[in-house]
Amino acid sequence: MGDADPDLAGHPLDSPVEVLPGIGPKRAAELGRYGLKTVADLVFHLPYRYEDRRVITPVVELRPGVEATALVEVTTMRSSGPRWGRGRGGVVEASASDGTGTVTLVWFNVPRYFARQCQPGRRLLVHGRVEEGPKIVHPDVDALPERPAGESPEPALAQEIAAVATVRPVYGRPAGLSVGFVRRFVRTALDASGGAVSGALPEEARRRLDLMPIRDALAYTHAPPRDADLDALSMGTTPAQRSLVFDELFCFQLALLTRRAESVSVPGVPFDVPGPRAELLRQQLPFALTGAQERVLAQVYADMATPCPMRRLVQGDVGSGKTLVALFAALVALDGGCSAAVMAPTEVLAEQHARTFRRLLAPLGIAPLLLTGGVTGGVRSAALDALASGAPQLVIGTQALIQSRVRFARLGLVVVDEQHRFGVLQRERLAGKATDVAAPGPTVPDALVMTATPIPRTLAMTVYGDLDVSYVDELPPGRLPVRTCLVESAQRGQAYVQALHEVEQGRQVFVVFPLVEEGESKAVRAVTAMVDELRERFAGHPVGLLHGQMTSPEKDAAMRDFTDGTSRVLACTTVIEVGVDVPNATVMIVEHADRFGLAQLHQLRGRVGRGANAATCYLIASEECVGQGYERLQVMEETMDGSRIAEADLRIRGPGEMLGTRQAGLPALRVASLLRDSCLLELARDEARRFLDVNPVWTAAAAVRRAIDHYPWARHVGL
Ligand code: ADP
Ligand code: MG
Repeated sequence: MGDADPDLAGHPLDSPVEVLPGIGPKRAAELGRYGLKTVADLVFHLPYRYEDRRVITPVVELRPGVEATALVEVTTMRSSGPRWGRGRGGVVEASASDGTGTVTLVWFNVPRYFARQCQPGRRLLVHGRVEEGPKIVHPDVDALPERPAGESPEPALAQEIAAVATVRPVYGRPAGLSVGFVRRFVRTALDASGGAVSGALPEEARRRLDLMPIRDALAYTHAPPRDADLDALSMGTTPAQRSLVFDELFCFQLALLTRRAESVSVPGVPFDVPGPRAELLRQQLPFALTGAQERVLAQVYADMATPCPMRRLVQGDVGSGKTLVALFAALVALDGGCSAAVMAPTEVLAEQHARTFRRLLAPLGIAPLLLTGGVTGGVRSAALDALASGAPQLVIGTQALIQSRVRFARLGLVVVDEQHRFGVLQRERLAGKATDVAAPGPTVPDALVMTATPIPRTLAMTVYGDLDVSYVDELPPGRLPVRTCLVESAQRGQAYVQALHEVEQGRQVFVVFPLVEEGESKAVRAVTAMVDELRERFAGHPVGLLHGQMTSPEKDAAMRDFTDGTSRVLACTTVIEVGVDVPNATVMIVEHADRFGLAQLHQLRGRVGRGANAATCYLIASEECVGQGYERLQVMEETMDGSRIAEADLRIRGPGEMLGTRQAGLPALRVASLLRDSCLLELARDEARRFLDVNPVWTAAAAVRRAIDHYPWARHVGL
């Protein structure tokens, strides 16, 4: 980076990419749509793989099918310009030779100026897959400096070659930009950010742990030296990459531990457990709790009994019966004279919980309230009055419940259900916010967060750093596994024939589509366009429609119709992904299954197989779904185990993915991967603990805040 333009240096990391030379509004927009908005985004946009250009193959040894690098001189060149004047569309074809043989180079759809670097006499380092001929279509190309004819100073040549025959980073990029452009932008951003990139780890710790300074580590990762170990680079295990990962994980752990330190310093309400009404409910249930439910409930009760506010995460696979755990906890709060609030991520789910709770609690003389965007007018104000009155209430709603500053006279418990679609940090903030916003009183409510996020146990303990974790790791008895069939698009009809058969037996069917409306490409089936086709297929059986763009009363009505069996088939989008519980539904058809994440498919599949009858899930692949995409779906046929599905998803997507995973509600870490880097995670946690041992909490909070430009997730920590 020695040739940095001094005028460039010192751009803050959070400057928009447009401050960089060579990036105008159009490119900035393109980069922005790809998620590269700031200088820091570019600086931390790490290569997802590397190409080895260090070995130069003589042309005579180029073999078809092999990716190779050659150093050649152009002998002839033909270019046919774009038909419509300016812009792309030109074809360039060149013959080039290195003395051992001749290779044909072809580029399609290149801008006009491209031909300039391929004039006869120019020396090029070309890299690509060799075809019969030999020929290379669309090789990556580096032009060596032009030199006067006849002159060939050997040492200079060697130097020029060394400058281009390197280990080359390959970046994820927007469709409209070549990898060459992205390389240049990243390089410019690195130069421009000057000393601004410093990381979160204190200098003393960095030295002690023998890690590289972040700036050096970035420079190495973006432009590895000629002697770099390519295997280690590809696996992300070079000291440079590990230094980057460690810094982020340290910051992440510091954030979690700091939050925890802050949250346990306030008083909560000590409840008597179990309360009399919780015991009544237990006697009235038509079934016994599973061992796992009992164990988790005991942990929840123990938390609620202490004067320290509960901060507990309950993780349990789809259908493991987490709702009941929440209900028992709510009764404990009510028995203690406090209100309890249950928040669901969607109105559909909030309404379903309200129905379930009303049914179970009617014999106890408790009438839960419902507060969602759809509850308006007199019903709403009556509910608000009841909450403010001071009499203990059980209220169910969406997040609007805490965001709209509903006043609770005395809130004892907040339950956040099914938050797996949010990152862990947002989820924690939600619990934290519930405590700040809803309860201005002297005590802080207990918080219970429930999720079906399938991530491995050891990992969860580390990731959910400021929550205690319980596992409902057992399904209620008698559940039959859902038979899962992967269906090619051409065979879709058969899935529907089976579904019709089930409907005729009195059962119900979900059909899930990836879109609400047809987009520009008609290739993707959308629910509103397909509902008519479904009505034909299921002639004589009512088909309901449910998607996120309907109004609340419409959604509520559609869900109610399906729950009480008025409609037999529900055409829907992923609004039903979480929590929906209709035991009579035995078939789930997912159209364009390849457009969903595996964890999401696992959730969807969990909507069926909740009753006594065997259920089937048909995953219909898109026409164009082949290879890896198809292989990924096969995992769904093989296992019902949520954590195995999550691991498979990551394994198939490969370790080359340097970005943290957004899947399964894990935070979108920038360079670290919670699964790949789990051994560093433990170390980072120890280091963060050490930091908090010797520094006050506010120093730690400030350190996290300072790292916001480096690690955008830090924005959501709420420190
Ligand atoms: P999730 O953990 O996915 O939220 P739910 O709480 O919705 O699961 O429970 C799924 C279904 O299992 C519900 O119909 C519920 O009534 C039923 N259920 C819960 N616990 C038990 C149990 N111990 N025995 C039998 N059925 C149960
Ligand atoms: Mg649930």
